[in-house]
Amino acid sequence: MIANPIEPPVSAVPNNMLTGAAYLESLNDGREVWYKGERVKNVTEHPAFRNSARSMAQLYDALHNPELEDKLTTVDKFGIRTHRFFAPAYSADDLLKARDAIDIWQRINYGWMGRSPDYKAAFMAQLAEGYGFYDPYGDNALAWYKRYATKGLFLNHVLIDPPANRAKPRTENRAMCVSVDKSTDAGIYVSGAKMVATGSVLTHATFVGLNSGASANMEANRDEDFALVFIADMNASGLRVMSRPSYEFRANSPFDAPLGSRYDENDAVIVFDNCFIPWENVLIYRDVDKVKRFHAQSGFFNRYNLQAATRLYVKLEFCTGLMVKGTQASGTNQYRGVQATIGELISMRNMLHGMTTAMASDVEPSLGDSVVPKLQLAAATRVYGTNVWSRVRHIFETTLAGAPSFTISSVEDMHVPELDHVIDTYYQGTNLEGRDRIKLFNLIWDSLYSEFAGRHGLYERNYAATPDQQRLDTLRWATNRGDVDDYTAFVDEAMADYDVEGWVNDVWK
Ligand SMILES: Cc1cc2nc3c(=O)[nH]c(=O)nc-3n(C[C@H](O)[C@H](O)[C@H](O)COP(=O)(O)OP(=O)(O)OC[C@H]3O[C@@H](n4cnc5c(N)ncnc54)[C@H](O)[C@@H]3O)c2cc1C
Repeated sequence: MIANPIEPPVSAVPNNMLTGAAYLESLNDGREVWYKGERVKNVTEHPAFRNSARSMAQLYDALHNPELEDKLTTVDKFGIRTHRFFAPAYSADDLLKARDAIDIWQRINYGWMGRSPDYKAAFMAQLAEGYGFYDPYGDNALAWYKRYATKGLFLNHVLIDPPANRAKPRTENRAMCVSVDKSTDAGIYVSGAKMVATGSVLTHATFVGLNSGASANMEANRDEDFALVFIADMNASGLRVMSRPSYEFRANSPFDAPLGSRYDENDAVIVFDNCFIPWENVLIYRDVDKVKRFHAQSGFFNRYNLQAATRLYVKLEFCTGLMVKGTQASGTNQYRGVQATIGELISMRNMLHGMTTAMASDVEPSLGDSVVPKLQLAAATRVYGTNVWSRVRHIFETTLAGAPSFTISSVEDMHVPELDHVIDTYYQGTNLEGRDRIKLFNLIWDSLYSEFAGRHGLYERNYAATPDQQRLDTLRWATNRGDVDDYTAFVDEAMADYDVEGWVNDVWK
């Protein structure tokens, strides 16, 4: 382990990362995004995406805010000034500062935009130390790191094949799974689809790979055409983005959908149709062995869980605030059982915060000189995060009970004078005017019950693989690292204290 060789003051080094305005401008690049039967001209002006793009732009502006710059940025070993999580960490202190930088970013959007650019930084930062793994494409990996860190680029990732014919090998699913059509001196041409690419409409490029389960099933001398890891610019020729319905597009007003109208991360299917990928964007090409080793070696898993748990405790702070205000409004906050559930929410927030501190402090060596959170802690945090969100939803449903559904049809009802009396009288809360109660509960609705909220529930449960896969990974890694042997040996020790004749251990004789 070495200390980050270039220490602050970071302000002495130019900050070349995108500003909010430059970020928005960069998305108007001719990318092929489809929405409601039309090709979108400019995502930053389209009603399905414009507000979410602006929410992301705030993160880029924060990188240039003099009050935040030192907390958010560092200088890497190449002399590049970048976001603290966009550079590898060389010590627990680096990781703690990176956690705090993630925290600052997540707070800007109240914890509701988890797939912000810092998510994929979990992977991209490690290219600075681990580019050699990708040889003969190692130079590409290092060049991508430098470009990425310098500008603070925003990448999405797609790992999952279309959910059909899963029992068959990819060779029998060629029409669907991403594979090489041909290669030339300039690059490769790929076809197939990947899903789902969260936030992709708002990103600069998509990182295309395979999840650990899929790569484990690949076979040498059969699956080479599918053994690929590459990065595609979002405006690459032959790359098509099929958006799901946008909650922002459907939002009637900020008052009716205060979160969905600005924080929709818009998951999309990415279709490659003879899409050209220049060689400089290729990291692994027709190499089954390397694709199989890629997940364990990238450091991504250990690091993305630090980002994910940080944004989840920020989101839980927001939800705890909602619960306190919601129960005050209903006048139920004096009840012992209600107070106990608020205490449980706070304990879950504190547990997640503690886990991020533990992950940042309890590190293990990774690529080159870098360190990452210990694998066992990252795996435990991933499983805990899934459980936490299910529990949060349950607590809201039982503690606020039906209160979130007592509202009006839309903000328009508030502009009708003859309804003033109805709203003022029957919609009031405890020490809260009708209009303020409706405003609060619309926010609660959008956090826990709306279509936007339902998607968040699905996300928390599945974004990091299915819940059973998360648990199976935890068991596999504990087995590989000897933890399971230690646990069984522990039990053996207890059983060696006695036998059919009685105590063996002198303590109890
Ligand atoms: C909102 C949201 C956002 C997402 N964003 C992204 C993203 O940005 N990038 C990305 O790459 N992915 C993303 N995902 C996809 C996510 O990674 C996958 O949904 C997840 O990995 C599960 O894969 P799957 O949906 O194909 O489920 P499947 O693998 O089809 O699993 C479905 C069920 O079948 C069971 N099953 C599967 N295989 C087996 C087997 N071999 N034996 C026994 N049982 C099995 C599973 O346990 C599960 O119960 C996102 C998902 C959601 C919901």
